[in-house]
Amino acid sequence: MLEIENLRATVGGKEILKGLTLTVPTGEVHAIMGPNGAGKSTLSYVLAGRAGYEVTGGSVKLDGVDLLGLEVEQRAAAGLFLALQYPVEIPGVPTTTFLRTALNAIRKGRGESDLDAIQFLRLLRQKTKALGVTEEMLKRGVNVGFSGGEKKRNEVLQMAVLEPKLAILDETDSGLDIDALKIVSEGVNALRGPNRSMLVITHYQRLLDHIVPDRVHVLAQGRIQRSGGAELAHELEAHGYAEFGGEREAAA
Ligand code: ADP
Ligand code: MG
Ligand code: MG
Repeated sequence: MLEIENLRATVGGKEILKGLTLTVPTGEVHAIMGPNGAGKSTLSYVLAGRAGYEVTGGSVKLDGVDLLGLEVEQRAAAGLFLALQYPVEIPGVPTTTFLRTALNAIRKGRGESDLDAIQFLRLLRQKTKALGVTEEMLKRGVNVGFSGGEKKRNEVLQMAVLEPKLAILDETDSGLDIDALKIVSEGVNALRGPNRSMLVITHYQRLLDHIVPDRVHVLAQGRIQRSGGAELAHELEAHGYAEFGGEREAAA
């Protein structure tokens, strides 16, 4: 399980997370909602260990392991996966190669042997079937020339291959049409399980119609201001974030 206690972090010298406390039990999907600029992406970057995000207090444990004491690659081996709002493009590296390298790096961090090309392709075929990722996409450079929907599917495929203990999906719904949203949501739902926790970060309630969370938390002004069940997302959709000091924006 993920245990975040009193987390404080600064970006560019400005304190963004101001004592954030949150627990996500193993097997549960929690949503984090909140106004733009609340610190949602900052939280995901801090958990992933991105450079420039300085932790100034508090602790983060994943199944008892102190995440903040680990290097970025060690965090992946410890079971953390972060899917970004804007996935990076990696020209010249075929998606298949990228996935195999990422998986073998994680296996190495766990003291497991590499999968060879044949073993990996067998695994990949199993995982791609349901997601509508084509052989042709797998040969292309990572995310190069992919549509928004293809990039998101590719990220769900990464998650399926890497089998993280904790998956963080930051604004996975942005830029998706309704069909792509369904495919991505089905892929994510298929990855729900008793040994995996997920943090789904979104500004809008729309995604949460498809990925129904066990709990919803409102992040505003650097802290979790309120927590509730899936119905809280609907309430926020109706009333916005004004009571938490945020602006209501027109739905996309
Ligand atoms: P959210 O994802 O909730 O929209 P972010 O975590 O992206 O919010 O941003 C939180 C705050 O941190 C915002 O006020 C933003 O302007 C600020 N911020 C984000 N990145 C940087 C940076 N690199 N330097 C300075 N301020 C930043
Ligand atoms: Mg934002
Ligand atoms: Mg964000």
